This record gives sequence, C-alpha cells and structure tokens, in this order.
Amino acid sequence: MQNIVFSTDISEALDNVLTVKSFNRIFVIVDENTRRLALPLVNSGHVEHAHVITIGAGEVNKNLNTLTHVWIELGTNGATRHSLIINIGGGVVTDLGGFAATTFKRGLPFVNCPTTLLAAVDAAVGGKTGINFAGMKNEIGCFAKASDVIISTGFFSTLPIEEFKSGYAEMLKHAMLSDTAAFHALLDIDFNRISGEWLLTQLKTSVKVKADIVQRDPHEQGLRQALNLGHTVGHAFESLALQRGKPVPHGYAIAWGLVVETILSRLLRQFDSNHMQRLATFVRENYGIFNITCDDYAELLHFMHHDKKSMNGEINCTLLNSCGNVNTGNTIDPSDMKAALDIYRDLMHI
Ligand code: NAD
Repeated sequence: MQNIVFSTDISEALDNVLTVKSFNRIFVIVDENTRRLALPLVNSGHVEHAHVITIGAGEVNKNLNTLTHVWIELGTNGATRHSLIINIGGGVVTDLGGFAATTFKRGLPFVNCPTTLLAAVDAAVGGKTGINFAGMKNEIGCFAKASDVIISTGFFSTLPIEEFKSGYAEMLKHAMLSDTAAFHALLDIDFNRISGEWLLTQLKTSVKVKADIVQRDPHEQGLRQALNLGHTVGHAFESLALQRGKPVPHGYAIAWGLVVETILSRLLRQFDSNHMQRLATFVRENYGIFNITCDDYAELLHFMHHDKKSMNGEINCTLLNSCGNVNTGNTIDPSDMKAALDIYRDLMHI
C-alpha cells in the first residue's frame, strides 16, 4: 500500500515520513525550476544533507540522456540499495526519478513530493514510471510505486495558472468518475480565489479516486481504463494542435475531450443533460475553446483510431451513465463521434 500524506506543511510531513525509515544517504531529484522554487520550501533536516541532482525542466528532458545523468550522479555519489531518493517536482521528475530509482542497482526506495497539481493528482500516485524514447511517449518504463507520496498545496503558489488548470482537468475527470457531489464541488471554483484549505480537501477526494482504481487494477488489466475518460478525444485534439504547429497544454486538451466524451455519454448512455451543459459552460469559460470545423473530423478520427489505448484500430472511449457510474471499453461508431463533435461545436459556440 502506498502511503499518501496530505499536508500544508511539507517540511513537517517529510520529517514524519523519513523519521521512521532507515537509509544511509538521501538523494533529492529536482528540475531546474523546482530546485529554485520548491526545494527552498522544504526545511527538513534530512534534506539539508542530501545530494541534490538537478535535471532540465519540461517534457523534452524526460529522456535517456537525463536518465543516464541521474544514474551517473547516483553512482559517483555513493548511492546504494540502502539509499533513498526523494523526487521533488512535476510529473517529469516523478516519472523519470521513479524510474531511475527503480532501475539503479535493481531498485532503491523513493518518495514523491509532487509540485504540480497534475503530478499530485495523477503522475506521482499510482506507480507508473518511465521516460520517452525513440519519439514515443513513456515508451520505456515500469510499474513501481513510491513508498510515500507527500501532497502539499504549499508548492502550488508559484505554479503558472495554465499548469494549475491543466492539473485541475484531471481532478474534474476523477470527480466525474466518483460522484455528482464531487463533480459539482469542483465546478464552483473561482481560479482567481483559491483557498489552500479548500484545495487540500478536494485533493484528498481526487487522489482517493485514482488510488482506489489503481489498487484494484495495479497493472492496467481493465478497470484502470476508467481513468482514460476524456483522453481518447483529448489526445486527438492535442495531436491536431501539434500538427497545426500550435500545441496546447495537455490538461486543456483533456478538458475539451471530457466535454466531447460527456456528450457521447449523453447520446449513448443517457448521461444527465444539465450536467453535460454545466461542464461545457465551465470548460468554455475557464479553458476557452479548441477550434474545429467539420473539415477537421477526418483527421481527428484518424488520431482516435490510432490512439495507443485503441483496440483493433477501433475508437475506444470510457463513458458515463452518470457521475460515478462508469462504462469502460466502449467501441464508438465514427458517426456517433461526428455527432458528438457537432454538439461540441454548438456548446462551445464555435
Ligand atoms: P512537468 O513536470 O514538466 O511540470 C510542468 C512545468 O512546471 C515544468 O516546467 C516544471 O519545472 C514546472 N514546475 C513544477 N513545479 C512547479 C512549481 N511548484 N512552481 C512553478 N513551476 C513548477 O509536467 P507535469 O504537468 O507536472 O507532468 C507531466 C508529465 O507527467 C508528463 O511527462 C506525463 O507523461 C506524466 N504523467 C505521468 C502519469 C503517471 O501515471 N505516471 C500520469 C499523468 C502524467
């Protein structure tokens, strides 16, 4: 079982976790931004004497060269199987740091301290680690859980609003997989006025949704597909944006994807129409719109047919009967997808 701690005081929480562990040396992995913005917030005696390994920030650095750099730093600074790694950063640091820890000398224990909202609700929890390789995202990696994940809202104040909203889209997804009350609670947010206490409460609910699903399906045999909600269409939007030379943040694509897959849930599973409309309005007002015309449908469907989660080249989506009542593994007829994209354009006022 992964120990997940929620706290407004990261230093105290980390000290509490580390006090009961035995290790000969601590290594901290950060990226160039979290070294500057997040590490100084960690006033733990344990971390003071740690060897800090810094990697480049961003997805472009989640690669074999960076991994090699981390392995070399561990090796030349005396890491052994009795050492401990603490990853302080977003999903790039927790994915790559977790993989480095798991592969070095056949595996060192590691603790994740996520500093982005996305890493807190998604990447740092659940035990998927890895790097991008040969142009493929997360091509090399393994399932390996951090022994502890320490989630502290204290890190998020320096997070650009775009990054915050990106993570929030995954929270929306978790709420929709959970229940209607959780879904409505998240739609009440005012991004200009977020209380740390309120956010910590929502994070507890959100992380529990993912942790429960992962616990029941640790190696993605079936149930974990529920977490794909919004992602089949979201990935297609992301790919189209990339093709247009105007990339969009991952979470924004997921927010738009959630709208389309909620419309599909309305068309095919009688999902509540008011909830569908409320989500669409929330996304339009807070994430803007992803502009498409019917001339884009063929390309979007092509991306969906080739999604890595697609089976036998069919379009596959997670659908909802209602919030919390989830259907995985639905094959979607292209004509239904086109109908949903038509309604998406209406609801987004395109
Ligand atoms: P990221 O780690 O690249 O962080 C985004 C940016 O924010 C970076 O520039 C980073 O330096 C900066 N940053 C981090 N914390 C900050 C802070 N507190 N203040 C200011 N800036 C800060 O990306 P991400 O969005 O956190 O995560 C995306 C990655 O996570 C992808 O590689 C994705 O594949 C992976 N991921 C993994 C899983 C999983 O289950 N393992 C799930 C979802 C996503």
